[in-house]
Amino acid sequence: MNAEIVCVGTELLLGETVNTHAAFLFQRLAAYGIDVYHHVTVGDNPARLTAALEQAAGRAGIVIVTGGLGPTGDDLTREAIASVTGRPLVLDAAVLAGIEAYFAARGRPMAPGNRKQALFPEGSHILPNPHGTAPGFVLEWAAGRWFVALPGPPRELRPMVDGPLVPFLERWSAAAGGARLVRRVLRVAGLGESEVEHRLQDLFARQGRVTLATYAKDGEVHLRLAVKVVAAPGTVPGVAVPVPGAAAAGGQDAAAAPSAPAAAAGGAAPPAPAAALQELDDVEAEVRRRLGLYVYGRDEETLEEAVGRLLRQRGETVAVAESCTGGRVADRLTNVPGSSAYVMAAVVAYANQAKVQVLGVSPHDLTAHGAVSEPVARAMAAGVRRFFGTDWGVATTGIAGPGGGTPEKPVGTVYVAVDGPGGTRVERHRWLGDRHAVKTRSAQAALLLLYR
Ligand code: ATP
Ligand code: MG
Repeated sequence: MNAEIVCVGTELLLGETVNTHAAFLFQRLAAYGIDVYHHVTVGDNPARLTAALEQAAGRAGIVIVTGGLGPTGDDLTREAIASVTGRPLVLDAAVLAGIEAYFAARGRPMAPGNRKQALFPEGSHILPNPHGTAPGFVLEWAAGRWFVALPGPPRELRPMVDGPLVPFLERWSAAAGGARLVRRVLRVAGLGESEVEHRLQDLFARQGRVTLATYAKDGEVHLRLAVKVVAAPGTVPGVAVPVPGAAAAGGQDAAAAPSAPAAAAGGAAPPAPAAALQELDDVEAEVRRRLGLYVYGRDEETLEEAVGRLLRQRGETVAVAESCTGGRVADRLTNVPGSSAYVMAAVVAYANQAKVQVLGVSPHDLTAHGAVSEPVARAMAAGVRRFFGTDWGVATTGIAGPGGGTPEKPVGTVYVAVDGPGGTRVERHRWLGDRHAVKTRSAQAALLLLYR
């Protein structure tokens, strides 16, 4: 049982919309142990869409189509699936009533086009959509051959996949052997990808059931550990995939709720083999032993969240003084909900005068060493900490470019400093890349220095 994903939308081919559905669905299908061999993006064109669906249905048991379920003339998915499967479109009275009620509740007239959102290829299971007017559907058009249609807007598609589609995913997962990929991502900052690989060389060389892979991200490296396990329906150990019903929202579309496929009804399969998860734990422990504090977090945890976790644990506070990063460190720190518990203040001290007047940097240091220098970075971190009476002060000063570089201090030269209970730590970096990259990587380095 393998799947193919067909994303529909000319805006995707023009690069106006980033295709996030593909990545989301790849992750979900992998978690359920359903292989994906092909993925196609096609525009809102009836002939090309039909051809793409025919090709997909010819080589994949499950074809998942995203987008094109809307009420307008360029929304063609339902018609194309009907044509490929030879199933006529039939009106679902309950769905139509739901759409009419949706508009009535908002005091808006219903356009004629919305009526077509109540049409489904004959024999479809309707997937209710509490977040919009277009329900999705699942159609077993021949034995073991499936079409799935999901709405385009992400806030409609994602809850549908994690809600009403789950019983089907369970069923296909069982048909595919019931193996699921349990993944864990260790987030590493402060070491390059090749250095990470070097330190884990032998682990990469003798990968067993647990596989390892690295991905270079902006200023950090993600190390993916994965193991296939055979798990009970409704449980994907170590992976945050909701169980059936967890995301059921009820709402006005409740009339359209499908009955769960029979194969997904029971829950009496064997539990996840603890041995496989133990192996994952063992590899993670070995990686952490070798990389130490360079591993700052796991799975979805960002560096600013990891910093926040530590500050909260210790009941400490931080103040930030930024020059070249222009507020980016403060922005990231305050992106974390609840950060007011530990973020006291942030100052963007861009001009020398501001560094002197607000942060107490000595004019002598500025003339003798320049604004982009170790003494000034130190003084900024200590100054902001002193001014606000925090446990920690963080500072950045550097040359983001494209102008302003010198032979001794080329563009991309950045100092980050952290002043805290144990004294001041300063790092000098030399980043490559444009202004945006230099700012991004400097903010990352400052947060990392604070984390350590
Ligand atoms: P609507 O009722 O809004 O017309 P629809 O099911 O017809 O929904 P589309 O018209 O194809 O879906 O897309 C609606 C919006 O959903 C797009 O403007 C786009 O912002 C978003 N979208 C569509 N496909 C994707 C995708 N693959 N990745 C991310 N966003 C997408
Ligand atoms: Mg549309």
